[in-house]
Amino acid sequence: MSSTQDILSPTQVAEHIRKSYNAQLLAGKVALVTGGSRGIGRSIAIALGACGARVVVNYAGNASAAQETVAAIEAVGGQARAVQFDVSNSTQTTEAIKALEKEFGGFDVLVNNAGVSRDNLFIKMKDEEWDANINTNLKGSFVCSRAVTMGMMRKRAGKIINISSVIGLTGNVGQAAYAASKAGLLGLTKSLAKELASRNIQVNAVCPGYITTDMTSAHGEKLIENVLKQIPMERLGDPIEIARMVVFLASDASNYVTGQTFAVDGGMTMV
Ligand code: NDP
Repeated sequence: MSSTQDILSPTQVAEHIRKSYNAQLLAGKVALVTGGSRGIGRSIAIALGACGARVVVNYAGNASAAQETVAAIEAVGGQARAVQFDVSNSTQTTEAIKALEKEFGGFDVLVNNAGVSRDNLFIKMKDEEWDANINTNLKGSFVCSRAVTMGMMRKRAGKIINISSVIGLTGNVGQAAYAASKAGLLGLTKSLAKELASRNIQVNAVCPGYITTDMTSAHGEKLIENVLKQIPMERLGDPIEIARMVVFLASDASNYVTGQTFAVDGGMTMV
């Protein structure tokens, strides 16, 4: 199989989501998706928008890609806005979220999706590589969650969804820092779920398997061939397959679900 697998276009994502979920499912909700400009985050943002949420599409540097996500949401009658901030920068992120809360009246849904994988064999790993993984994937999720929590507590409702990874469950050669950041995110998920349960804020994690995005397109044909051998469904995933789980976790359908980890991985990891 080719390592580059076709994925649904932004317009197709909105159309397909509307077949699985009602266009009013998230009406009245305000959602923030970090890293919503590309890949999994883009599909998540479009899916939430197609279900009626007003969506803030965060990005780090790729303004035109973020604008494409916004356009796909608007094309199906939804509302969205692209906002730049670097989740690894605590001050910048906290200030940006504070300003957005004033404008939108607080968030109902936060999806901590922004992520990087700076990989290297452990003995060669540089401090910068370790820090990049931890600061974006783990600290970024902490900072964003902290920034929205007070607003959610005031509303006495909220959904925080952390995009971890199957690598956080299993570990992987060459990915010690990435795995540590994603496993750490599962610990953050469970602790926050316990701390915020009484405030009616549900916190859950999704662990994608191998999904076709820019992050995985850098992987060579040989690596993808090996990966496919580990996937009972014998294919990579499409970003929309993660988005469908996130819509469920963002909706009232999941109101009695908290502190859980959902692997969406074609059967790659089973416990
Ligand atoms: P991509 O590389 O395709 O996209 C990454 C997204 O994150 C972009 O929107 C990018 O913004 C944004 N981003 C990166 N750093 C920052 C930052 N410091 N601040 C704000 N935004 C940032 O990644 P994927 O879509 O593949 O991955 C999304 C999430 O899913 C990640 O957390 C990843 O670890 C996780 N995941 C992915 C898997 C896969 O197979 N693809 C498997 C398991 C987990 P910009 O466009 O501006 O650069």
